Amino acid sequence: MTEPLPLSPRHGTVPVRVGPVVVGGDAPIVVQSMTNTDTADVEATVAQVADLARAGSELVRITVDREESARAVPRIRDALAASGVTVPLVGDFHYIGHQLLTKYPDCAQALAKYRINPGNVGFREKRDTQFATMVEIALENGKPVRIGVNWGSLDQELATRLMDENARLAQPKTARQVTHEALVQSALLSAARAEELGLGRDRIILSCKVSEVQDLIAVYQLLASRSDYALHLGLTEAGMGSKGIVASTAAMAVLLQQGIGDTIRVSLTPEPGGDRTREVVVAQEMLQTMGLRAFSPLVTACPGCGRTTSTVFQELAEQIQSYVRARMPEWRQAYPGAEGLNLAVMGCIVNGPGESKHADIGISLPGTGEEPAAPVFIDGRKTVTLRGPGIADEFKKIVEDYVQSRFARKSA
Ligand code: SF4
Repeated sequence: MTEPLPLSPRHGTVPVRVGPVVVGGDAPIVVQSMTNTDTADVEATVAQVADLARAGSELVRITVDREESARAVPRIRDALAASGVTVPLVGDFHYIGHQLLTKYPDCAQALAKYRINPGNVGFREKRDTQFATMVEIALENGKPVRIGVNWGSLDQELATRLMDENARLAQPKTARQVTHEALVQSALLSAARAEELGLGRDRIILSCKVSEVQDLIAVYQLLASRSDYALHLGLTEAGMGSKGIVASTAAMAVLLQQGIGDTIRVSLTPEPGGDRTREVVVAQEMLQTMGLRAFSPLVTACPGCGRTTSTVFQELAEQIQSYVRARMPEWRQAYPGAEGLNLAVMGCIVNGPGESKHADIGISLPGTGEEPAAPVFIDGRKTVTLRGPGIADEFKKIVEDYVQSRFARKSA
């Protein structure tokens, strides 16, 4: 099992209940995701929310952009409940959230949280009244809100005022520093306004999303130093494929290591036809590889090199990772703790036995020119040597037996 890392203590935030899920305080860091279906398309949205929830998303955000979407929300909630999916739904509102939540009380009730973007609520007096309307509806329905600032839609009046003030200073800050300040102030001023309206700190989550790694780190460090609101972390518009994964992980890992962040989302742009649940798996793997949470056994595999010219070990590593992920829903119920299992699939004798001994279960496959035998190590001891074409199935059986014997629920 992965030992806990020497992490900074978690930033002491006020816990917020989002349906049955707790965000902040001492609660585990929550993984969330967002659909990319048209919310008005009930069938498609239900299917994607269910997929995201089954992949392990603990909150799912859906956009509520127009009347058809607001009307669809309670139907989506009901259809999910009918199929046993209870994941809390978060409504993402921009521009007309106050109108939609007022006109569609069933939508307001069906959602577990409202996301309000202070930069997209309205201008001048309207901004204040429209923001107040959304907060008052949250109060009436007993819902929390996320005040979600985004630098693509930063409150321009605030940004301009701070830029003007900065220009008058003897030693002005850089435009980038002023933008960071504007993001943080936008979130904190809106949160203070929500509190004046009666919403408690235990109903407010903040986020300040940007798309550059260093900016995200700077902004959240500033935000965490000035408040104890629960924080949602995410690099917005992180990008596609490996770039999105690397950028999100680089930014969030630094902050999480500093104890900053209570819930995360990895905002990946899906490849055409790609799987939306990838963002959930990446978020889980980020938290698990940091030793912050465990979701599914992880497979350590060597990268391969000239000592192993066959793809046998690559295929075995992939098969084992897919196998444990597929088994996890059942294991989670029957074998609590199995999610923290460490497995190793190694390509040859150089590092194979050593790495395998560090895992709970490891297998060292034969490299080029080595005897065609694969020693298996369980809890650091060599227990059996596998040979022949059935190695994959035999190894899966060993893993299954190990899980059953080590993690079976103790009868009361
Ligand atoms: S364990 Fe063997 S095959 Fe794998 S990278 Fe190391 S030397 Fe190469």
